[in-house]
Amino acid sequence: MIANYGFKDGSGDWFLTIDTDKCDGCGQCVAVCPANALEVGEDEYDPFREEPVARVKHEERKKLRYTCAPCHPGYGEEPPPCVAACVPGAISHSEGWRLLYGR
Ligand code: SF4
Ligand code: SF4
Repeated sequence: MIANYGFKDGSGDWFLTIDTDKCDGCGQCVAVCPANALEVGEDEYDPFREEPVARVKHEERKKLRYTCAPCHPGYGEEPPPCVAACVPGAISHSEGWRLLYGR
């Protein structure tokens, strides 16, 4: 399942996406996030799933544009820490930051 966290406004799309089919709940993204914006817990989108998955903390979901911005200058050469740490490749970000900071 594709879990989108964030928002869209007049300035762009600001979503962090977690592919829960790829996520194995290892917690590496949680450990490397400098903003402490991520956590591993029950799957809020799939009540039948028993294994924990990564998700964005509730209090961060409406301000991800700003929370994640410091990780994005240089995006394309150097991925954000959460993306780099995720071996299964479960995390991605929408265009907003890339358009703002360039690839
Ligand atoms: S982009 Fe940075 S601040 Fe945002 S979730 Fe990933 S590691 Fe955390
Ligand atoms: S690093 Fe990737 S696989 Fe591990 S908990 Fe985070 S999103 Fe899931």
